[in-house]
Amino acid sequence: MPERLIVRGGKWQSSGLWVRYGLIIHPTMGAVLIDTGYTFHCTRANERSIGLRAYNAILRPELIDAGQPNAFLARFNLAPRDINYVIITHFHADHISGLSLFTKARFVACEHAWETVCKASYFGNLRHGIFPELVPKDFKDRFQPLSGKPTVETELGINAKDIFADQKILALPLPGHAIGHFGVILRMPEKSVLYAVDTQWLFAALPDKNHPGFPSRFIASNKNHLSISSRVVERFRDNGLGDVVLSHDPVQTPYDIIDVEKNT
Ligand SMILES: [Zn+2]
Repeated sequence: MPERLIVRGGKWQSSGLWVRYGLIIHPTMGAVLIDTGYTFHCTRANERSIGLRAYNAILRPELIDAGQPNAFLARFNLAPRDINYVIITHFHADHISGLSLFTKARFVACEHAWETVCKASYFGNLRHGIFPELVPKDFKDRFQPLSGKPTVETELGINAKDIFADQKILALPLPGHAIGHFGVILRMPEKSVLYAVDTQWLFAALPDKNHPGFPSRFIASNKNHLSISSRVVERFRDNGLGDVVLSHDPVQTPYDIIDVEKNT
């Protein structure tokens, strides 16, 4: 049975939003991360570009030491080199800033999302909170595009990509927030969980009438798709298909490792 854990890795000080990333211990694939959260690569690395420094100065993420990958993984007797896969839901800085820590990992991501990052200008990426400097130089060699994974129909009637071809961890397209943005359905014996990442930042924002304005709509790659994806997430939850977790909603979930807060 895949074990799953979603941890709080940091928070945006000004807004009180959390930044989660996930750890899955897969029975055959070993340790798998979903995103990396915010890491010091965003907040204090000397080699940061001016754009990344400005982004950090505006958002002022407050990192929680115990939620950083090294400390968090150590709780499970793991180190970054033990991570075999990082599933990258999208390329925003708060989801990929720690990628360079995982020197042995293969990277699972949407091909179109990666191509868009590669083609965009520095400022085109900056506008969307994307900083290619956070992506390891050998990314291409370790990249496993979702397009190469088998397609399966989910309980929502929407096709997803079966990341490890075992129907346990599915990449569900949830476009709108970012190019190629997807959620992850974790199918466990007792319950399924949809990690809907950044479909919306808060649960309260999922209903159409509550969709927020700036800055999330400004960052969004497609506002209409954002509405459709929000309804998909609501449908998953309201039809009893399983629990839903968002990356940034500050309300605690049963999948959080909560005592990381003690180290703040
Ligand atoms: Zn995002």
